[in-house]
Amino acid sequence: MKKMFSTVIMSAMTALMVCASGGASADANHPKIGFSIDDLRVERWTRDRDFFIASAEKLGAKVYVQSADASEQRQIAQIENLISRGVDVLVIVPFNATVLNNTVKEAKKAGIKVLSYDRLILNADIDAYISFDNEKVGEMQAEGVTKVQPKGNYYLLGGSPTDNNAKMLREGQMKVLKPYIDKGDIKIVGQQWVKDWSATEALSIVENALTANNNKIDAIVASNDGTAGGAIQALAAQKLSGKVPVSGQDADLAAVKRVIAGTQAMTVYKPLKTIASEAAKLAVQLARSEKPGYNASYDNGLKQVSTVLLKPTPLTKANINLLVDDGFYTKAQISAQ
Ligand code: BGC
Repeated sequence: MKKMFSTVIMSAMTALMVCASGGASADANHPKIGFSIDDLRVERWTRDRDFFIASAEKLGAKVYVQSADASEQRQIAQIENLISRGVDVLVIVPFNATVLNNTVKEAKKAGIKVLSYDRLILNADIDAYISFDNEKVGEMQAEGVTKVQPKGNYYLLGGSPTDNNAKMLREGQMKVLKPYIDKGDIKIVGQQWVKDWSATEALSIVENALTANNNKIDAIVASNDGTAGGAIQALAAQKLSGKVPVSGQDADLAAVKRVIAGTQAMTVYKPLKTIASEAAKLAVQLARSEKPGYNASYDNGLKQVSTVLLKPTPLTKANINLLVDDGFYTKAQISAQ
């Protein structure tokens, strides 16, 4: 009798412990997902969050969201907190691609699956990655600008140096620009990475670049819409906006309006509902130890990471209505002044 009693207690305790550490014993019909987002102050990520929660809840999951607001330490602390809450899967938009190795190790020890969302976590034992094809986005940005201005002085405005996407974008941009540079048609007069993808930082970088080049900048390859906005503000102060093509990505509302107004040459549309719902499906499949359908693989320095890669679409004034057709914005939203 005594033995039976203690066995019951023991197995109850084991169940509790396994449960608290996440993983296999959790309720597979209702997995818990921790969503750690670099920075919810940036427009696109709030939409990613909302679409993700809606899709995950439809699949029976519960989502806990944290925003690190561009702080490496805060993100690590928040992920540790999600681990101790006993989530089954961590979905992470990393602020700094290279510092999560130990945190991911902790998660894996607790039986938690890790999905890298939009940005690749480097040198860590993650289970999967989902993103749009970032190299292709970079190609589209350079193509969008060279179509308008195939010659002259080019300035390259890169993304955050802590974001692996920034490097992939640059690779795509250079693939397109190199033949023009080799021919002598295009000259790169400067390049900078923009800390935290900050629009204000982009503004001051382009102000300085214009001064240093006596305003002789003919095109700016900017890596997203936020930084494009900063660049265009600097151009406007010199009465150059609309004359110097600038690229972007994300189809942020302000950028879409600039594309319509002719001050931004292009943006890249990445349907956030698609990445968020595919990621939710992937996270739930990982929690249930099912086999997700991957279509690519990326080397993150430690391993080949199984990847779901989605297709971006370039947008200019000519096809901007696609955003309305696709339900990303209403006609009223994009045409309001
Ligand atoms: C994303 C972009 C975004 C940028 C800044 C990148 O990793 O791919 O869509 O604009 O981060 O948040």
